[in-house]
Amino acid sequence: MNEHPDFLWRSPEPRRSYEVVVVGAGGHGLATAYYLAREHGITDVAVLEKGWLAGGNITRNTTVIRSNYLWDESAAIYEHALKLWEGLEDELGYDLLFSQRGVLNLAHTLQDVRESVRRVGANRLNGIDAEWLDPEQVGELCPILSVSPEARYPVLGATFQPRGGIARHENVAWGYARAADALGVDLIQGCEVTGIDVQDGRAVGVQTSLGRIAAGSVALVAAGHSSLLAGMVGLELPVQSHPLQALVSELYEQVLDTVVMSNAVHVYVSQAHKGELVMGAGIDSYNSYAQRGSLHVIEHQLAAAIELFPIFAQAKVLRTWGGIVDVCPDASPIVGLTPVERLYLNCGWGTGGFKATPASGSTFAWTVAHDEPHQLNRPFSLDRFAGGALIDEHGAAAVAH
Ligand SMILES: Cc1cc2nc3c(=O)[nH]c(=O)nc-3n(C[C@H](O)[C@H](O)[C@H](O)COP(=O)(O)OP(=O)(O)OC[C@H]3O[C@@H](n4cnc5c(N)ncnc54)[C@H](O)[C@@H]3O)c2cc1C
Repeated sequence: MNEHPDFLWRSPEPRRSYEVVVVGAGGHGLATAYYLAREHGITDVAVLEKGWLAGGNITRNTTVIRSNYLWDESAAIYEHALKLWEGLEDELGYDLLFSQRGVLNLAHTLQDVRESVRRVGANRLNGIDAEWLDPEQVGELCPILSVSPEARYPVLGATFQPRGGIARHENVAWGYARAADALGVDLIQGCEVTGIDVQDGRAVGVQTSLGRIAAGSVALVAAGHSSLLAGMVGLELPVQSHPLQALVSELYEQVLDTVVMSNAVHVYVSQAHKGELVMGAGIDSYNSYAQRGSLHVIEHQLAAAIELFPIFAQAKVLRTWGGIVDVCPDASPIVGLTPVERLYLNCGWGTGGFKATPASGSTFAWTVAHDEPHQLNRPFSLDRFAGGALIDEHGAAAVAH
């Protein structure tokens, strides 16, 4: 597939003009470029990245994949993503370490239980695998999790999605990058977009740190920096950028066979293939463009983890890091057209966009290719904030992923 077996992708000089310029070589930007080439035959594409390929959230996330969102619109796009994940290693010809080990979402209060049972019902109506487990069943599935009624936040039950799981995030980025490159897409690193050229209401190119590049269409896929890019054409987005942190422990023998998440105590844990315990937390509450967060969030996260998993008390933290997540008021993304012709926007995936990468990329590529919304991303248009048709996924998406 790849003509350059020693390299995952080429490093070409940018040409002065492309049919489509994608801004941001994260997971969603790379997937967009890949599907433009693969599904629409549009190979005259450049992906412009200000830093290094996959240096943003795509390789900073905790890799949880699931589709058990509440509303029909979200269920449809996240389930489409999960179905694509199920064939993605074969499609890209690359090992993504995709592991469908199941995802537990714990309920600790009666309100949690009501919300979770409702979500299981909604998921089933949408054909998504979802189960409600009582504390005993949760304990059987995850024996190291404390389900004692004496716990400070006792586990009252959990939703379980067996087809959920994890994948190795850098492999996902590299898999898409390699496949897009092989189809002729130019991946340009160290190329910051500093301006967007608009003529007669239409996007016609971008200003970059490597000079001007003309474009038939411009697709912004810049996660936490989306507001800055949209601001270049005077577009104000309803997006807040926050730090979101995660950490890994030293390597341990396999002790955790599934993904465990708790919105109430603000921690979620899985064990990576190598053996690290991978732990995510809630967002840092202030706005920031720094890819790091505050220590008190990590302390809170570890206290919560030990509460749920007493055997983690002796585990050692190896590394912590942060990313910048782009959060919309309804915890749902923005994907589609903008008031500027041929300028497209894909952002607002917030704390949970990794799982959506294949569906985000494929439906957004469709939108760019056809200059109209795809049926799965139509509900996530920017103008829902003017019309009021919000898709409130705070229960399914907020802190947890
Ligand atoms: C700690 C953490 C844990 C998470 N856990 C999960 C999880 O378990 N499951 C899940 O589904 N999601 C999770 N997420 C969310 C997920 O990572 C993001 O929603 C998703 O990765 C965002 O899309 P992306 O990969 O394209 O973003 P990014 O990888 O951030 O890509 C955007 C790119 O745009 C580039 N860029 C920005 N401005 C410019 C410019 N002016 N010019 C050129 N390039 C520019 C950036 O450098 C960056 O590389 C997590 C996020 C974090 C930070």
